[in-house]
Amino acid sequence: MAKRDYYEVLGVSKGANTEELKKAYRKLALQYHPDRNPDNKEAEEKFKEAAEAYEVLSDGDKRARYDRFGHQGMGGAAGGGFSGQGMSMDDIFSQFGDIFGGNGDPFEAFFGGGRSRGGGGGGGRSRGQRGSNLRIKLKLDMLEMSEGASKKVKVKKYTGCDACNGTGAKDGTALQTCGTCGGHGMVRQVTNTILGQMQTTTTCPTCHGSGQQIKTNCAKCTGTGRIYGEETLSIEVPPGVSAGVQLSMSGKGNAGEQGGPPGDLLIAIEEVPHENLTREGNNVIFELYISIADAALGTTVDVPSIIGAARIKIPPGTQGGKIFRLKGKGFPILNSYGRGDQLVHVNIYVPKRLSAEEKALLEKLRDSPNFMPEPGHKERGFFEKMKDYFS
Ligand SMILES: [Zn+2]
Ligand SMILES: [Zn+2]
Repeated sequence: MAKRDYYEVLGVSKGANTEELKKAYRKLALQYHPDRNPDNKEAEEKFKEAAEAYEVLSDGDKRARYDRFGHQGMGGAAGGGFSGQGMSMDDIFSQFGDIFGGNGDPFEAFFGGGRSRGGGGGGGRSRGQRGSNLRIKLKLDMLEMSEGASKKVKVKKYTGCDACNGTGAKDGTALQTCGTCGGHGMVRQVTNTILGQMQTTTTCPTCHGSGQQIKTNCAKCTGTGRIYGEETLSIEVPPGVSAGVQLSMSGKGNAGEQGGPPGDLLIAIEEVPHENLTREGNNVIFELYISIADAALGTTVDVPSIIGAARIKIPPGTQGGKIFRLKGKGFPILNSYGRGDQLVHVNIYVPKRLSAEEKALLEKLRDSPNFMPEPGHKERGFFEKMKDYFS
């Protein structure tokens, strides 16, 4: 199940300040408080969800990280170790006890301190609609996926109109009462159904619930408050991403209409294939070819890895199918410590063309007892060995 956006959980805007966050969290915490909802699993989940969102957004560093990387950026080594699942009710109370107004009755603190409208509400009426999310693809090579990268990407998107500061109103013109809804922000609609006429009330489509309208439209953006154009975005990719991972940058999507909050930027990671290495989860596989002579006599070879070359020793008598493991030479594990490994799979190259002299040498060796496989000799197959490594 997809994790909900923390701002959405608390019902606050991306720009919400500490006081707004605290207020929003307190409201939810009290609404879903276990004392008020005994044996209600759903309420408990909501209670925990709100606590997690508040825990992250009320912490400057974590919030900045979340804004940049979304849920991907949370938890694990760099994110401060908050995963949500591990948080018990006791943790929540010991951590946020102060929000309930000390050790007194939580409801007293709530009802004593500025009773809110309760139920549904959430946030003031904003004039403009939220901008849509912007989806882009980002191609990364293995080194970038492994070590992280700073990328600059040109995108086409809506940005706030600079002539009217995103309001859509021509310089100096005031707002007037919305003509569609008469300032109520809601309109009644009559629909015919098989059961007869039904009256519903919906948000006014003209003013989106604000009850106000622009008197004179800004000439540059024709009143929308935003302009379509090209923008260069800086994207910080954390180490350890892989193809299929989606990063999100809060508020970097399309600007909203008439001052509405912006959408998010959603970045789908794609892999530029490496010419020699294959990725398998956090591990990297390299197919190594060595000669019969090197396999029998032993040697040292340099193999490519994500970061530069790595040297490995081939001991005398190395069999085809052998896997050497270069520990920690794979990809870092996202949101965690440690790295995967590089697995070097040995293939013995059998010559396809032979000179007369080479032929003569091999003919001589053919019947030499050491060149014969031992009776009943069996090497474990490649896939069996791989299974061991990945399990
Ligand atoms: Zn404008
Ligand atoms: Zn209206």
